[in-house]
Amino acid sequence: MTSLFDPSAPDRLRADLAAAPGQLLIGGAWHAATGDTIPVLDPANCQPLAKVGAGSAADIDAAVRAARTAFDDGRWSALPPSARQDALLRLAALIDADAEGLALTESLDNGMPYMMARMGGAAGAAAMLRYFAGWATKLGGETITPSWPGEWLGYTRREPVGVVGAITPWTFPLVMAVGKLAAALAAGCTLVLKPAEQAPLSALRLGKLVLEAGIPAGVVNIVTGYGHEAGAALVAHPGVDKISFTGSTAVGQQILRESAASMKRVTLELGGKSPTFIFADADLSRAIPGAAMGIFGNAGQVCAAGSRLYVHEAVFDAVAEGLAERANSLRIGPGLEPGTEMGPLISARQRDRVAGYIEAGRKAGVSLLAGGGTRGGDGYFVEPTILLEPAADLSVTRDEIFGPVLCLMRFGDDDIDALAARGNDSAYGLSSAIWTADITRAHRLANRLRAGTVRINGSGPPDPALPLGGYKASGFGRENGRAGLEIYTELKTVTVSLN
Ligand code: ADP
Repeated sequence: MTSLFDPSAPDRLRADLAAAPGQLLIGGAWHAATGDTIPVLDPANCQPLAKVGAGSAADIDAAVRAARTAFDDGRWSALPPSARQDALLRLAALIDADAEGLALTESLDNGMPYMMARMGGAAGAAAMLRYFAGWATKLGGETITPSWPGEWLGYTRREPVGVVGAITPWTFPLVMAVGKLAAALAAGCTLVLKPAEQAPLSALRLGKLVLEAGIPAGVVNIVTGYGHEAGAALVAHPGVDKISFTGSTAVGQQILRESAASMKRVTLELGGKSPTFIFADADLSRAIPGAAMGIFGNAGQVCAAGSRLYVHEAVFDAVAEGLAERANSLRIGPGLEPGTEMGPLISARQRDRVAGYIEAGRKAGVSLLAGGGTRGGDGYFVEPTILLEPAADLSVTRDEIFGPVLCLMRFGDDDIDALAARGNDSAYGLSSAIWTADITRAHRLANRLRAGTVRINGSGPPDPALPLGGYKASGFGRENGRAGLEIYTELKTVTVSLN
């Protein structure tokens, strides 16, 4: 088998990463953090991979000031929209040119299989930029005639909201960062990006490309650091107009509370416990791999993971058998090992948390259809795990586990309302999936699910044109699509007397 990447590249990359701590991108130049450094570990072997700066409140302040100046003097927002479009397209081309390096960085740092980092990560990030680049020239308002006596003109303008604080998780670090950056920049905003401390390396590599693309100094600033320090300082900073956050529901709630004082605009993309339904008439040759991928993809560290699966009793045994076979045969290993289908979890803390949930389920009497263990030795590996019919009130059924753990439940000939009620019996409402040949049933159930996304009979990779976000505790606002651009704007109404 020919190698997917230059075989000597990982060693060179490791040497480069180990050579010097990652710096902060502030005002178009790289600076050492004023604080300490954060060790970044390779999750596949727990060995040090790199160090990055632990950005302090002072570093955040410098970055916000740079972003503020760059916003207020119009070096970005006052450019012709086509110039912003061109800059985003240049960045997309640079990402394509560096796809191997970005994907290797992401795979080493996050643990995900190389091909996922290459296709979903680097290629996905370039696609995101190209999509939002197109919006830069298409963003506009409407004309509205007021019903006042005489002759009037009314119109609306979409104006950039200002300085954006973008806080991203370690799940898909590059795509998460680029998604926020692309939409905010297309709208004319400037930003300070605070990537997750567990996997910050692709964001720093992105920073180099941002400079190379000729995006003006101060428009994109990147400050690595801890959430409670750098993240909290960004949320508290009066110079920030909007926070766009992807991460846990608990931190999202905290951000919402803390943004109230300064009336920051907030978009939150949070957790989920998303249901999948497989009906008796579903095409099981697609539904079984689809459901397995929905929970074991990226080792279940996906906000929209399909972690609750409801299967009709007529096909329950067949589905259970198919899923167990898939779980038991998935190749687990380091992201850069050829053939790896599922990598490690991000950290010891995450592995222990997931193992704790599995143990709690066991103690409550839940039996396991597959997996249940952690892999001994190096790396934060957890086996693909299937819990058989856990009760609806258990923590494994209710909480977001954020690991490769599936709760498998059955249903009988419940009516659609009863089934939707089971699906909706969750604090979350991010995503859902339905497998059936009956289109009426599929649409009736889709209408009743309180979730931001419903996938009927499969779906493709994330598409930047499709809005993404949650009902209930899964979030606030939508990313992607037109809605995902508009969250970075203020709407202004202008009226003109023509009398
Ligand atoms: P996860 O559980 O997925 O790690 P978190 O919500 O803890 O999710 O982290 C997501 C992002 O939020 C990371 O970049 C993290 O550093 C940041 N973060 C964590 N705590 C805070 C906080 N109090 N304020 C702002 N950002 C935070």
